[in-house]
Amino acid sequence: MALKKDKYNQIVREYDNRQLKNKHELDMRRKEVFEAVPELKQLEHDMISLSAQCGRLAVMGDSSSLDKLKTQSLDLQARQIELLVSNGYPADYLELRYHCDTCKDTGFVDGEKCNCYKQAVADLLYSDSNLKNILLHENFNYFSFQYYSDDYIDDVLGVSPLTNIQKIVAGCKSYIKNFDKNKDNLLFMGNTGVGKTFLCNCIAKELLDKGYTVIYLTAFRLFDILEKYKFGRDTESSIDASNQFSYILDCDLLIIDDLGTEMNNTFTTSQLYLIINERMLREKSTIISTNLSYEDINSKYGERIYSRVISKYSIRRIIGKDIRKIKAFNNI
Ligand SMILES: [Zn+2]
Repeated sequence: MALKKDKYNQIVREYDNRQLKNKHELDMRRKEVFEAVPELKQLEHDMISLSAQCGRLAVMGDSSSLDKLKTQSLDLQARQIELLVSNGYPADYLELRYHCDTCKDTGFVDGEKCNCYKQAVADLLYSDSNLKNILLHENFNYFSFQYYSDDYIDDVLGVSPLTNIQKIVAGCKSYIKNFDKNKDNLLFMGNTGVGKTFLCNCIAKELLDKGYTVIYLTAFRLFDILEKYKFGRDTESSIDASNQFSYILDCDLLIIDDLGTEMNNTFTTSQLYLIINERMLREKSTIISTNLSYEDINSKYGERIYSRVISKYSIRRIIGKDIRKIKAFNNI
């Protein structure tokens, strides 16, 4: 996928900055421990000179001396860890720490783009729907069961809203755990304000943290992108839309929030079918949230989409009161 040059440069800069930051932080840690435990400074000096000697011997092909030096080097490393730990530092305190351990903040693994790089591209392309700030507060740590009542039993589901949401949250956690294996799709149904978007965000956060690529779009925004992609001429925004389109089909998880709030027409219906179908063929998971009932989905999007969703998505119906209203009423 061709990314425009300025955007590509922006990402490369971001990776350069990460590496510089890692290096700077390591320098700060070194300064700190060398002041506290001077022997560690001498030890590092010895390790560097030993490694230079190893390099020379390797070039000369002197393998028996090389083996000896390697053993010495391991002894020094062990001593370093011992000193760090006995002085109350973590064993890896003098190692570089990475934002992404998989690619060591280079963006690539064996010449292939790392998932963190793909997500960086997605974040850039979708900067106006960037999840990062939202996810600081909308994640499982902040999920509260207090908004779900245990006072009545729902006629259809046969459980209270609280029992229902507890089951759903447990199911979401297992969805995350088995994400790679199951390639499952979810449909969150329920009235406005019962916590569908919040749950979508909880899942997004966990999967992003695990290194998967996740794109969150409201249905309105999704179809806006698709329209630009389909009908846009060769303008800057249509090039962006074309990149965005590839990601919509290819990201590990696509979240379509609030399906049914977009302007519905034959274009949106055909595009929705394409996305649902194509992602299934590619074995990529999708989560859809909607206020619509089964009948609404059928009448709005037609039999083809309806039957796909009913048969291929695990349905999670959330019941309860409008949390936004409860919060506003109680001034939370
Ligand atoms: Zn990475």
